[in-house]
Amino acid sequence: MLDTPRFTEITPTADIRAARHGSRAKCLQRLIRMELPVPQTVALPFTTVREIAEGQMPDLGTLVSLFDMEPLLLSVRSSSEATDWGGPGAVLNIGMNDEAHAWLSNTLGHAIADKLYLRFIRSFAIEVMRLDEAPFNEAEDPVAARDTYEEEMDAPFPQDIADQLDAVLRSMARAWEGTSARLLRQAQGAPADAGLGLVVQRMALGMGPGQSGSGVVQFVNPATGEPQVTGRYMGQALGRDALKNRDKALYLTSDPRGPSLQDLLPDVYQELIQVGGQCRDRLREEMQVEFTIAQGRLAVLDAVRCPREARASVAIAAALARDGIIPRSEALLRIAPATIGRLLHRQIDATADRTVLARGVAASPGAASGKIVFDSATAQACLSRNEPCILVRRETSPEDVRGMHAADAVLTERGGSTSHAAVIARGLGLPCVTGATGLTVSHRRKSVRLPDGRRLSEGDTMTIDGSSGEVLEGAVPTQEPMLDGAFADVMSWSDDLRDIGVRANADTVADATLARTFGVDGIGLCRTEHMFFDPARLTVMREMIFAEDASARQAALDRLLPMQRDDFTELFQLMSGLPVTIRLLDPPLHEFLPSGPEGLGALAAALDRPLSEVKSRVAALQEYNPMLGMRGVRLGIAMPEIYEMQARAIFEAAVAASGLGADVKIEIMIPLVTARREVELVKRRIEAVASGVQAETGKDLDFRLGVMVETPRAALRAGEISETAAFLSFGTNDLTQMTYGLSRDDAGRFMSAYVNEGVYPEDPFQTLDVDGVGELLLLGSARGRQTRPDVTLALCGEHGGSPESIRFCRLAGFDYVSCSPFRVPVAKLAAAQSTI
Ligand code: PEP
Ligand code: MG
Repeated sequence: MLDTPRFTEITPTADIRAARHGSRAKCLQRLIRMELPVPQTVALPFTTVREIAEGQMPDLGTLVSLFDMEPLLLSVRSSSEATDWGGPGAVLNIGMNDEAHAWLSNTLGHAIADKLYLRFIRSFAIEVMRLDEAPFNEAEDPVAARDTYEEEMDAPFPQDIADQLDAVLRSMARAWEGTSARLLRQAQGAPADAGLGLVVQRMALGMGPGQSGSGVVQFVNPATGEPQVTGRYMGQALGRDALKNRDKALYLTSDPRGPSLQDLLPDVYQELIQVGGQCRDRLREEMQVEFTIAQGRLAVLDAVRCPREARASVAIAAALARDGIIPRSEALLRIAPATIGRLLHRQIDATADRTVLARGVAASPGAASGKIVFDSATAQACLSRNEPCILVRRETSPEDVRGMHAADAVLTERGGSTSHAAVIARGLGLPCVTGATGLTVSHRRKSVRLPDGRRLSEGDTMTIDGSSGEVLEGAVPTQEPMLDGAFADVMSWSDDLRDIGVRANADTVADATLARTFGVDGIGLCRTEHMFFDPARLTVMREMIFAEDASARQAALDRLLPMQRDDFTELFQLMSGLPVTIRLLDPPLHEFLPSGPEGLGALAAALDRPLSEVKSRVAALQEYNPMLGMRGVRLGIAMPEIYEMQARAIFEAAVAASGLGADVKIEIMIPLVTARREVELVKRRIEAVASGVQAETGKDLDFRLGVMVETPRAALRAGEISETAAFLSFGTNDLTQMTYGLSRDDAGRFMSAYVNEGVYPEDPFQTLDVDGVGELLLLGSARGRQTRPDVTLALCGEHGGSPESIRFCRLAGFDYVSCSPFRVPVAKLAAAQSTI
C-alpha cells in the first residue's frame, strides 16, 4: 500500500477519506465536487498530525507555496473522523504580520488591518502559545499586543507564515493528545487510537469594503426539524462571530424584529438557500453551513451535520426518506433507538395542583417526578430498583454522566441553557432545570436548601418541569406526550420491516391504552400483583393474608374476585383482537403488609385484631430471603385458592368482554417455575376452573397456558416443562438475578464499582448478559422447541426494550419481546434495525 502523502490539496479527484483525513476534510471535498465556492484547502491526514505531535513537521514551505494569494492568510480547523469526537478550536488569520498589516491598511483600510492583526496576535498568544489572557485583552491595538507578546515570550512575534503555521499545527496536534480531550472523545465512543486530521484553508475575508461579513446558516429548526432558515449573519466579521454576538448580528430571513441578510443581500440569500438544497440532495443530510461574504461574493467555508435535538433528528430522517433522498431503511438506521424514546416526553398535567419550590432555566423539556439523589451511584441504585429519581447537583461534570443516564430528571443550582447539565440532558431527552435561583445544594449533607429556607433530603420526592423551568413539590401528575407525523411514519416503517413481535408489559388500563397507542402486538406481561396496590383492595388482600382458615380466606378471595374480574374485563376489551398474557400472583405475601409501627397499628385497627397478633403474624410471614422464598408458583401450590380465584376472574372477564363484543385472546402465565410438576398441578386446577365457568355460562373458553422461565432450572428443564406449556416467556430480571446470584434490589450499591473495574462490561440488569444469561436463553429455547416445535418463545424482563437483547432474541428465533409501554417504540425501531 502506498503511504498517505503528508498533505494533500483537496480537489474533486484527490484521495481524501474520512478514515484518514477526518470527516471535515471529506465533507469539504464533497462541497468542492458540488462546485460550491469553497476556498482552496489542504488536508493533513491523521498520520501527519501524529508525527507533528511527536515533533516531525512536514515541509511547511511547500505546503504554503500551494496557496496562491497575496497576502496569504490561512485558517486551520480540526477534522476528526466523527464530528462529535471534537477537536481543538479553529485558528484564523495565520499569516498576519507587519507586512500583511501594511498591505491590508492600503487596500482595505487601517481599521480592518488593525482588527485582523490584533485578533491574530491575541489568538496566537492565548490559544497557541498558551499565554495569560488578561494582558492581551487589555491591549487595544496590534502594536501593544505585539509588545506584550514579545515581553511575555522574550522573543519577537513570528513574522514568517511558515513559523506561525508550525506553532499552530504543533499546538493543535498536542491538544488532541491531551488527557481531557481524550476522555471527552472516548465518552462519545471514539476508540483509544482515534486520529485527528487538520484542514488548512485560505481565508475568505469577511471584512473589507462593500458587503462583507460572515455567518452560519441551517435550513431546519434544530428543535423540531421543521424546514426553517435559522442562523445569523454579521457584517465585518469572521468565523462564528455572528453566533457569538447574536444581539449585534442580523437575522438571515426577513424578520420584523430587525434587519436581515435577505433584505440586505437578496441574491446572496437566494444563493445560500440553493446551497442548503444542494447539500440536502447530494450529502443526503441537513447541513449547517459556515459562510463568508467578501465584497458581495459568497464563499462556503465549511458544512457540518446540523446539530439537532431528539425530535428534530427523527423529523429530519423521516423527511429525507419521504422526499426520496434516502431509503426508509436508512432513515430508520439513522435514528438511535434511544432517541425515539426521548420523543415521548411527558408534560405536567395542566389541571394538576402544583406548588413551585424553585424556578430556574428550562434547560431540557419534559416532566418527571422522583426521589432526590445527589450522586451517580445512588441514581444507579435507584434505576436498578426501578425507582424514578432526580439527580440534584450544584453543577454537573463528565463524572455525572452515568448518573444522568440513570436519573429521570436533573436539577442544578448553577448553569444556564448551555451548561454541561443542560446539553447532556437535552441529548439524553431528560427533563432538566439548571441555575435554579435560591437553591443551595450540599453534596456533603445530601440535602438541598430551598429559597424559602426549607430543606429537602435524599429520598424526598420532587417533580422537575424542564419545559417551564419549575421545580415542584411532591409527585405532580403528568400527561402523555403528543406524537407527530414523523414519529408515526417511523413506527409504521418499523412495523413493515420487523420480523419479531413487540408486546407491552402492562398492568393497568392506562398502561394498556398507551401500549395500544403505540401499536403493540399484545400484552406480554400483566403483573397482577400491581392490581392490588389500591388502598381499598389492599385491605381485602390483607384480610386474605390474615385469614385463619380456608373458609375465611375464601371469603376474602370472594371479595377480591369481582375487582380482578372488572380489571380483566377492561383489559380484554381494550386489547380486543390481541393476546393478553396475565401472570398469576408472584411476590411473597408479606410485601402486601405494612412494616413500620404506624402501619401495623392502622392494620390492626382495620382488621379489628390486637396489635400483638398482627405483629406476630407479620413476623411469621417474614422470610430470610423472600426473593427465593414463598413466591411465584410456590404460592399457587401452597395456597391454591389464590390462583383459582385469579383464574375464575380471568374466565368470567373473558365471558363478559366477549359478551360486549371483544375478541378475547387469553394467555395465563405461571411465574417462578422450577419443575414440570408445578406446572401440571396449576394447569389441572386452572382447567377445572375453566370447565366450571364454561358449565355455568355455557360459553366455550379457549386459553393458552405458559410458563415464565426465570430460574436457571426452568431453563435447563425447558424440554420437559414445555410439554405442558404453550409458551415459554423468559423473565430475564429474575433469571439474571439467579444466574449471577446477585440481588436485583441491592446490586446498585456496588454495580458502579464492578463496571468501573471492568468486572462486568455493563450492568447485567440493564444490558442482557449474552454470555451467561444468554446461554441459558439459547439452551432453554432449544430444549423447549425440541419437545414442542411450535412453543412460543418470548422475553419479558426489562431487557425486552433494549436494542441488544432484541437483536439477540431475533437471532435466537424468539417470537416476541415484551417491555414497558414507553419502550415499545424503541423496541419496534430496534427490531426493524436488526433486520437491515
Ligand atoms: C422477570 O423476572 O424478568 C419478570 C419479568 O418478572 P418480575 O420483574 O415481575 O419479577
Ligand atoms: Mg420475575
